[in-house]
Amino acid sequence: MKVVADLHIHSRFSRACSNKINIKALEQAGKRKGINLISTGDFLHKDWVAELKRDLIKDDESGLFKVKDSKENIKFVLGTEIATFFWEKNKSKRIHTCVLIKNIEAIEQLRDQLSKYGHIDSDGRPILLMSTSEAMEIIFSIEKDAFIFPAHIWTPFFGALGDISGFDSIKDAYQDQEKHIYALETGLSSDPPMNWRVSELDKYALISNSDAHSLEKLGREANIFNIKKFTYNEIINSIKEKNIKKFEKTIEFYPEEGKYHFDGHRQCNFSLDPQKEKNEICPVCKKQLIIGVLHRVNELADRPIGFIPKNAINYEHQIPLKEIISFVIKKNVNTLSVEKIYNEMLLKFGSEFNALNADIDEISKINNNIGKVIEKINKNEINIIPGYDGVFGKLELL
Ligand SMILES: [Zn+2]
Ligand SMILES: [Zn+2]
Repeated sequence: MKVVADLHIHSRFSRACSNKINIKALEQAGKRKGINLISTGDFLHKDWVAELKRDLIKDDESGLFKVKDSKENIKFVLGTEIATFFWEKNKSKRIHTCVLIKNIEAIEQLRDQLSKYGHIDSDGRPILLMSTSEAMEIIFSIEKDAFIFPAHIWTPFFGALGDISGFDSIKDAYQDQEKHIYALETGLSSDPPMNWRVSELDKYALISNSDAHSLEKLGREANIFNIKKFTYNEIINSIKEKNIKKFEKTIEFYPEEGKYHFDGHRQCNFSLDPQKEKNEICPVCKKQLIIGVLHRVNELADRPIGFIPKNAINYEHQIPLKEIISFVIKKNVNTLSVEKIYNEMLLKFGSEFNALNADIDEISKINNNIGKVIEKINKNEINIIPGYDGVFGKLELL
């Protein structure tokens, strides 16, 4: 069966997250998008855990969960992101790492142990004053089936390989616990081909998640599995094995759309393409630029652009449907006009993923221009003005 999984999201208890996020709303948002496995996010946060315990029930022995009294075939996996803050060779390190677990009973013990290292309830993504490897050791001692992966590895802040507070290798970032790392989250500003240029990363499965802070952003990146049993172990094992029969592909943002692709300064309205220009100082304010993901990949890459490693998991670029509609009708993505056409398309095709893969003639019956634009996107006849320093990229048609 086909499982479309988003394994990294946040609850409304994380900083800057929508207060509309609750379990039932997530289930509905997953259905609209075409996702059937969603991380709960933030499972270390007291108030969110109380909601998870109230609204979810175990889905038999699968290690996954379902919404109580719901007929939908959408499951949840217990997941959270942690932020570790520590010093290494006189440099401060801030790393984001995702954790999935299958036993809801383990949460209290995890909270007990990890709360010794930080205010665990002040944010859905707790800041822990400890190295990531120390955190992992504690987590595995309580939940041996935990699955832990570095989040958005390239982002300048918080990425394990990021320019500002990261490392030059996954091994350095995770030390003796690197033996438990099987997958890396590529983040919105990079896609698999960029990561394939770094041979050190070949051993890991590249996975993609939304890191959604609102219901609308759910599934903007995702993982598609084709598995026999819809269980925690089956999903995790197909990632661990990098089994291309079971782990079919990832859904990716165009990396240029991500908000840290190029180098630049948001306040100075300045960005540059690091492949063309080597300049780390902003010509406007004369300060150090925020080094983007493309620049950082180039620094660590030991292979040319276009290299494809053996047994690489497939991928597909996708632009969120609301962005396409917004672009076509020239209205902001959060307007009712966009919502109206979006709903019309969902009604016809069932989910956003179905709509994006639907027959162009059928899409054109709803809106001719949307049909044309999706056709152009499918033929790659698009251009994206790359994002930088927190500014998202912008879509343009050729
Ligand atoms: Zn993060
Ligand atoms: Zn500047």
